[in-house]
Amino acid sequence: MSFCIGNESTFLSLDLTEQCGVKILDTNTEIEEELKLIADEDDVEPRDVATFVPIVAQKITEQETIKKSVEQRSSNFQKQTVPWPKSGDTPVNEFQTEGYITCAFPTLFPTGAGDFVAPRPRTVTAGNYFKHLMMYGDGQFAKHPRFRYFALNTEMRWRALQTGRIYIRKHPKDGKLTLDELKDMVGCEGERFANRVLHFANSLRGTSQYWFKQRRNLISMVDTLGMPTVFFTHSAADSQWPELSRLICPSNQQHSTTHRSRALSENPAIADWFFFHRISKFVEAFYVNVLGAVDYWFRFEWQHRGSPHVHGVAWFREAPDVEKLLSTKDDAEFLDAVEKIISYADNLVSTVNPAISPDASDAHNAPLPKIKPHVCNKWYADVDDLHIDLVELIATCQRHTRCSTAYCLKKKRDGQLQCRFMYPKDLQPVTRIVTSDDGEPTMLTQRNDSLLNSYNPVQLSAWRANVDMQMIVSRRRVINYCAKYATKPEPRSKALKSVYGNVLKSLKGDDASALKVVQKVMISSVGERDFSAQETCHLLLQLPMFRASRDFVVLSLDYSRQLEDHFEENECVTVDSPIEHYCARPVTPEFANMTLLQFVQRFKTSRKVGEGLTCRKKHVVVIVRPCISPDPQGPNYEQYCRQKLMLYQPFRKIEQLLGTCYTHADAYLTYLQSNTVPATLADDILRLEAAERENNNSNTEEVSLK
Ligand SMILES: [Zn+2]
Repeated sequence: MSFCIGNESTFLSLDLTEQCGVKILDTNTEIEEELKLIADEDDVEPRDVATFVPIVAQKITEQETIKKSVEQRSSNFQKQTVPWPKSGDTPVNEFQTEGYITCAFPTLFPTGAGDFVAPRPRTVTAGNYFKHLMMYGDGQFAKHPRFRYFALNTEMRWRALQTGRIYIRKHPKDGKLTLDELKDMVGCEGERFANRVLHFANSLRGTSQYWFKQRRNLISMVDTLGMPTVFFTHSAADSQWPELSRLICPSNQQHSTTHRSRALSENPAIADWFFFHRISKFVEAFYVNVLGAVDYWFRFEWQHRGSPHVHGVAWFREAPDVEKLLSTKDDAEFLDAVEKIISYADNLVSTVNPAISPDASDAHNAPLPKIKPHVCNKWYADVDDLHIDLVELIATCQRHTRCSTAYCLKKKRDGQLQCRFMYPKDLQPVTRIVTSDDGEPTMLTQRNDSLLNSYNPVQLSAWRANVDMQMIVSRRRVINYCAKYATKPEPRSKALKSVYGNVLKSLKGDDASALKVVQKVMISSVGERDFSAQETCHLLLQLPMFRASRDFVVLSLDYSRQLEDHFEENECVTVDSPIEHYCARPVTPEFANMTLLQFVQRFKTSRKVGEGLTCRKKHVVVIVRPCISPDPQGPNYEQYCRQKLMLYQPFRKIEQLLGTCYTHADAYLTYLQSNTVPATLADDILRLEAAERENNNSNTEEVSLK
């Protein structure tokens, strides 16, 4: 397939064949012949067209020449057409066909130059190629209504295919499966196979398996740093923010809402880029510098209409240790603790509407949203009365005034509709901490407005769109939140269960192989849902899907040495594991009682023991593998206990972990009964206590039966 460009003389100076390998069917000889024709007619030497000073004296006047030339050009223009690309029976190979992309988008590549599959001095990845185009100066690629979807689809599919090839290389056994063997696996085995493949593909951004991995990382972060202080959410007022308007319609500042909306939908890349930078700067300026956050984690998410928002958690330096305070058994101390937490919370978050009196008697007169002009149209620098501005922002952005089935109303078991955010909420004369139905402590902040979303006044006035901030008082809530909210995968359009079966059904006999199956499973995961325009742009611009103040390091405790990907002198090179480095750690007081977990958090190890340790700038979050069930009755409990002992008990030789016990389960029980157990192991203690109770109950039953 060739991209045909007509014989417009302006293209002469462009050597397209050199630049992008697109063939120009009308070759130079044809053009030269045509130029000769013109020359014969006008009696002008053909090279006059190309040279600045005419060599032969003109026989016609300058004016006549110009006139003729203009006429000639306009008649040329009429003739000049870009022929429709030829179509044939052979499918185009998207990886090899030069001009495949340029032909599909002739208005974006009018000269045919710049195709992805074109010879170039340096290799460019598809990701970087599309990112470059999305950021192209005139914005035509980012604005094109279809190009971004084509680009994302291409990039994600290609990455899935490549990840599939890597999977097969790393799992040669799976690679040798024959078609019959693969067919036999349909059902549970196939599902497990698909799961294994998808787990491997957890680097494919935006997929469910990607978010599962981030969830595990976030839970590990909570285990490492303790309970975060707050949950926060920030939405976008992208059709209102003046800073964004200035970027997407620079010429017209006073435009109508329709204008802004149109500009927004035409410029999803700029809108998303702007949101990313706004929230990134905001987290530094407000959470870190104003509230004293030492750590944070937040993710980007896009709702149906396509605008982004973030959910996150933050750890504050001055925050009270809620978990420790609430765990006190002494009544007087407990009341003190609650008071301390409440006074901290009241200074941080609010559900009080300043426009309504404290007893809410005038709640029916609550101010209406300020939308003409919209309060979010105002620059923060132009706000002269912060109080009035806050009242307007609350009335406009912070009240849950309308519940709808499309958004928040969900059917309860009894068939009744209920707002999933539980609005309207009960008024609260003062902030309290209560125990909710599930036994977890819950904070009910002072509230005079049943529809108001929790906020921090500075957060709201500076962010200038809907926000949320809530103080965290329960570890279990955080873990739930991580699973259900912060790292929830985007909704799947089809169940994973049927993926394997469908992939096998779609295979055609002659191209069936394990690699094809793996690749198709991976592709099914990248295409399992819709992407909004802004999310598409976010992915193409290679902006992060989440941001964390810590790095994550995987620690494998199953003794497998890390295999390096390259081979030296045909010998597979192994790297000493962190466990070997830990056992050989220096014999100084600093290292004597250091646990393996602390060691990995603090030090970066070199390839071989004895080659030195590097102190990390900030402790990392350690992700432990393999993941083993903590069920005391489960088949792998012994292994689970060994893993926990390895992490939390200092040792030089692995045998030391047993102490005087015969099993790791016993040794771990002894450890849990000691005084030095970190809060992260509280669940294990509860689990063991529950198991013991059950044990006792069954014993007494046996006794009574006798
Ligand atoms: Zn609602």
